[in-house]
Amino acid sequence: MRAVAVNFESHKVEVKQVPEPAILADDEVLFRVNQVGVCGTDREIAAVRLVLPPPGDSFLTIGHEALGQVIEVGRKAAPLKAGDWVVPMVRRPCSGCKPCAKGRSDLCATGEYVERGIVRLHGYFTDLAVDESRYLLPVPAGMLDCAILVEPLSAVEKAVETALQAHGEYFTFDPPRALILGAGTIGILAALVLRERGFHVAVASLEDIEHPRVRVLELAAIPYLGVDETFPSDVVIEATGSAEALTIGARSLQRNGVMIALGAPNATVEFPFRDVIVKNQALIGSVNATARSFEQALVDLAKFDRRVLRSMIHRAGFGDFEQTLQGPLGPSPKVVHMLV
Ligand code: BGC
Repeated sequence: MRAVAVNFESHKVEVKQVPEPAILADDEVLFRVNQVGVCGTDREIAAVRLVLPPPGDSFLTIGHEALGQVIEVGRKAAPLKAGDWVVPMVRRPCSGCKPCAKGRSDLCATGEYVERGIVRLHGYFTDLAVDESRYLLPVPAGMLDCAILVEPLSAVEKAVETALQAHGEYFTFDPPRALILGAGTIGILAALVLRERGFHVAVASLEDIEHPRVRVLELAAIPYLGVDETFPSDVVIEATGSAEALTIGARSLQRNGVMIALGAPNATVEFPFRDVIVKNQALIGSVNATARSFEQALVDLAKFDRRVLRSMIHRAGFGDFEQTLQGPLGPSPKVVHMLV
């Protein structure tokens, strides 16, 4: 079968022929991959950064945002059955730490976790895949137009839950206010989730107001600000990968405010540490998601305006990967390859 893979010898992304996977244990499920989303992590992987091949292989099949249809199930994979639609979770636990043993591999303490399509496990940009049933979230057939957003949304759900756990009852504003930095998939989804939780939200980013990403926000009736405007907030979600955004976020935080960094800037940031202390502020980094975040993502996705979700997605074919992984960043927040 076909697989889009990064080759660690030539440093190229290419189509490979790989053997079809098969069910080897009772709790496993074989599914046909229908859609694969591309995010910033995949573009890093295509540049052979943030990525490790499975032991013994010199390539890694790309793709961690996926939607598939079940073909066959092992004897203990119920209630999943042939024909069901599933979204796989990305991370698998390490063998020894307490968070992983308690189902929180997103907080893995050893760093020895593996991730499909990212670290030491082949991903889903291929025709068929096998997973243990516990890593597959069933999704209703009525949500095939947007279910590919479950995985990125799961990272947002974890971030929002973390912010609310930190100081949720003691925010300054009523209703609480949230500033989201970045108008990509994560930024837009974060704005939708926080509004759903009763927040007064705004998104700030660098795109000009004619940009298609800003049009998505307009359709969702989410206020869009320039990066020099102020929006004092209880929660800031950083989803840009820029060090400057963290500085803007810190400036916007009120007493007891919580800033969650998701965009992973590869830079050192100066921080007003005295303010952080005397205002009881929290800066929290967050990566990956829990099984509960995936479930919550599906619940929230079903509530959001479908026109907004559909307007976030640009559909591409199987063979368009060079453009989407290595070409200039396109205008749509989310590129989704249709494999079938
Ligand atoms: C994925 C996460 C993953 C992270 C780091 C993100 O793009 O959504 O599941 O943990 O990359 O590898």
